[in-house]
Amino acid sequence: MGGVFDPIHCGHLFTAEEARVEFKLDKVIFVPCRQPAHKRENDISAPEDRYLMTVLATSNNQFFEVSKVELNRPGLSYSIDTVKEFLKKYNHRVKIFFITGADAFLEVDSWYKSEELIKLCQFVAATRPGYDLNKLDEKFKKIIKIMEIPALSISSTDIRRRVREGKNIKYLLPQEVEEYIYKKGLYRKM
Ligand code: ATP
Ligand code: MG
Repeated sequence: MGGVFDPIHCGHLFTAEEARVEFKLDKVIFVPCRQPAHKRENDISAPEDRYLMTVLATSNNQFFEVSKVELNRPGLSYSIDTVKEFLKKYNHRVKIFFITGADAFLEVDSWYKSEELIKLCQFVAATRPGYDLNKLDEKFKKIIKIMEIPALSISSTDIRRRVREGKNIKYLLPQEVEEYIYKKGLYRKM
C-alpha cells in the first residue's frame, strides 16, 4: 500500500487490515513515497517524519511492515519501480496486491507505465466517500478487485487542516501519531 502518509490515519489502517483479511495476505507493506508525481515537494512533510509516523501507526500489527524503498530512491516515486523491486526481492515467487483507495485508482490511467503496472500486480480499490468507481473504464473494472469498506471520509488533508485550525483530531488516527504531530509541531502552518 503506497501513499504520502502525511499523516497516516485510520482510513489507511482500516483499508490495509481489511484487504489483508479479505484476500488472506501474508502481510501488508506500507510504502511512503518520497516525492509523489502529483504534489510539490514543499507541500509535504519531511520523508523522515512521514516514515516515523507510519512506523508508529503500524507497530502494533504483526502483519504490517513499512518499507523505505521509495524514500531511498532518488527522484519521483513511481509505483512500477517499487513493484519491480519487490518482485525481484522475493524472486518473483510472490503475488503482489496493490492496495489503493478509489480516488487513487480512478487516476491510474495517468500513472507512469500503468499498462505494465496493472499486469504485474492485482489491484485492490477500496471505496471512499466522494469517489465513484462506476466511472472507471471497462478495461479497469474487469481487472480490479473492489473492496466495499464502511465509509471512512477521513483524509490527511482534513487532518492537516484541523491541526492548523487548532481543532480536534483524536480518534481519526492512532494516538502515537497524534502525539508525534504535536511534539514535532507539524501542520501548524501549511
Ligand atoms: P491527502 O488528503 O493528503 O491526499 P490521503 O488521506 O488521500 O491524503 P494518501 O497518502 O494520499 O492519503 O493515500 C494513500 C492511499 O490510501 C491512497 O490509495 C488513498 O486512496 C488511500 N486512502 C486514503 N484515505 C482513505 C480512506 N479514508 N479510505 C480508503 N482509502 C483511503
Ligand atoms: Mg490522497
